[in-house]
Amino acid sequence: MPLVTGSSILDAARAGGYGVGAFNTNNMEITQAILEAAEATRSPVLVAVSEGGLKYGGKTLIDMVIGMGREATVPVCLHLDHGSSFESCLRTIRMGFTSVMIDKSHEDEATNIAETKRVVEAAHAVGVTVEAEIGRLGGVEEHVVVAEEDAILTKPEEAERFMAGSGADYLAIAIGTSHGANKGKGRPYIDHKRIREIAALLPNPLVMHGASGVPAELVARLNAAGGDLKDASGIHEDDVREAVKHGIAKINTDTDLRLAMTVAVREVLGAKPKEFDPRKILGPARDLMRQVIEERMHVFGSAGQG
Ligand SMILES: [Zn+2]
Repeated sequence: MPLVTGSSILDAARAGGYGVGAFNTNNMEITQAILEAAEATRSPVLVAVSEGGLKYGGKTLIDMVIGMGREATVPVCLHLDHGSSFESCLRTIRMGFTSVMIDKSHEDEATNIAETKRVVEAAHAVGVTVEAEIGRLGGVEEHVVVAEEDAILTKPEEAERFMAGSGADYLAIAIGTSHGANKGKGRPYIDHKRIREIAALLPNPLVMHGASGVPAELVARLNAAGGDLKDASGIHEDDVREAVKHGIAKINTDTDLRLAMTVAVREVLGAKPKEFDPRKILGPARDLMRQVIEERMHVFGSAGQG
């Protein structure tokens, strides 16, 4: 079926009280893993490409993802992750993206609203929906003082003002998660109260970035296979479930796929020094990514919704 917009998937998720994964892709095997997992679990899904991914794979990557997405029998959206400019969003819309994120969260509030609004007007004119972000993700560890923490995490009244002013469709909020494989010592902190307060003011789907689980089992396998990933930690799946219950409808996952792919490649190369068929090396990587994605889809609650 044709690709669908982010809103068509995420509005249903917010209304239905479940979350949908946005998984980053950079190549064929990752895209296959995402779409096969979506089919197997009957999940709607967002396939995300960042500007870095676009630079790596070019328009050929996008054409391939669109072609593969159209073959799916579950709703698939092609989403630009962290678009940095109006021009970048427009370029990707022209390539066939059905959802774009404009990230001006590092700018002051007025600039973020104005720049987001510009993208929203252009995107909506051609039937594409828009994610924006306010607040700043990062290690909350170094921001334990409440006043400082408040300066980083999304303020509910600011979120309300921002959405009214920008017209964005879904909103990424800073609630304690951070990008990457080191999300803080112990069980990383998620500000559930803040999610509830923002969700009470906004009917829009809310988005959680930096939400990878970084499973300890995968980290152990990586290190056992010669990798060197220290102090790795992710978001506990119970925290993800609770966040979804309170209004998070889109959950971004990239780190877990990178981790799964690297584990499988390392294990194959380590166990089979004579192997040099790329399909025998990347095939198991695809299978492990698919397994990780399917598990995520069950945690999010998107399984059976597609
Ligand atoms: Zn992000």
